[in-house]
Amino acid sequence: MNEQTVIIKRRFSDKLKKGYPLVEQGALSEKAKFGHEGSILRFVDESGVFIGKGYYGKQNKGIGWMLTQRENESINTNFFSGKIQAALDERASLFSDKHTTAFRVLNGEGDGIGGLTIDYYDGYYVCTWYSEGIYSFRDHVYKALESIMSYKGVYEKKRFASKGQYVEDDDFVMGERGDFPLLVKENGITFAVYLNDGPMVGVFLDQRDVRNRIRDEYAKGKEVLNTFSYTGAFSVAAALGGATKTTSVDLAKRSHAKTIEQFSVNGIDYEAQDIVVMDVFNYFKYAKKKEKTFDLVILDPPSFARSKKHTFSAAKDYTSLLQDAISITEKNGVIIASTNCSTFTMEKFQTFIKDAFKKEKLSYQILEEYRLPDDFRTNKSFREGNYLKVVFIKRVG
Ligand code: SAH
Repeated sequence: MNEQTVIIKRRFSDKLKKGYPLVEQGALSEKAKFGHEGSILRFVDESGVFIGKGYYGKQNKGIGWMLTQRENESINTNFFSGKIQAALDERASLFSDKHTTAFRVLNGEGDGIGGLTIDYYDGYYVCTWYSEGIYSFRDHVYKALESIMSYKGVYEKKRFASKGQYVEDDDFVMGERGDFPLLVKENGITFAVYLNDGPMVGVFLDQRDVRNRIRDEYAKGKEVLNTFSYTGAFSVAAALGGATKTTSVDLAKRSHAKTIEQFSVNGIDYEAQDIVVMDVFNYFKYAKKKEKTFDLVILDPPSFARSKKHTFSAAKDYTSLLQDAISITEKNGVIIASTNCSTFTMEKFQTFIKDAFKKEKLSYQILEEYRLPDDFRTNKSFREGNYLKVVFIKRVG
């Protein structure tokens, strides 16, 4: 393939040389004339010294990814096979785990292919493409998949319209079509997933360790509130762990049926649980008015959400969300605060926790912290790729 040499500005070239994989907006020293998305770029510094090779592809994060720092390595089917094979080898223990049949197989830049993720769901693979640029390598990637994996079927998600929005399509690629819901397992918990029904399949695989911990250590005998509950995955884990009752709150109408389904496939009587379709912020008001309290409160909001009355931004509003949660958590109760927002660090997140308790004039103790599970492999040079931050907090006072 043709390679186009582009000069990286000094401010950006030092980072790239150290292995930072993202080509940021503004990194190119002249308005590059590299044509179309998917062009192979050869990066050099201002003195013409080779830095690496990658591709042009516009994503919210930047304008492309560096794929190799080896000058004589070509970006071809072999390149992708090598990365995918290495990623599969890394997950060998998950592939042989009878109790877990859904996990991430290739995590973008963490596994050397910025802009692409591959997830596994009991014999089916889902490739998520984050730019037109990376999507132009699809034939290489699918050829690589065909030659090294055995699979029942492959689906894909295209998230490269504007701002990473999902492109509506028939997501089936090759192999045989699945029968949905497909029932997958995670540490013995069953989840119903739909691989051909929009951008999200029904479970977020990055919370596996947290769900496991809730079930095994935090749920027994507890009254649990799960906010921003989506399909109720945390509620299912809590119910299986012996929670006396779970309450799941989500604004989306379809979350009600989806949550019933997740309880049902685990043999849990959903009628003994509360599933509430409501704005979480209104739910907090309602709970305060009724003096309802909980032993365990789970907060897992999106980074940014707009409802009729509220705009929520994790970076700006997490402290006040925590204050609401604190006010309806029992003394000695636990709050599990989670965020997938990549624009602030764990240290910053902990300042939100500190501020919230200070404002509520209460003390707290941090019990444990979680980041992404091992299958969501990250690149050490790219801290923002380790987006998930989960803190288990005990309300002491
Ligand atoms: N905690 C979930 C994932 C949350 S995804 C899990 O572990 O599976 C974010 C969810 O927040 C979406 O389902 C969305 O419908 C919901 N949401 C966004 N804004 C909301 C609001 N103001 N009130 C209630 N739910 C909201």
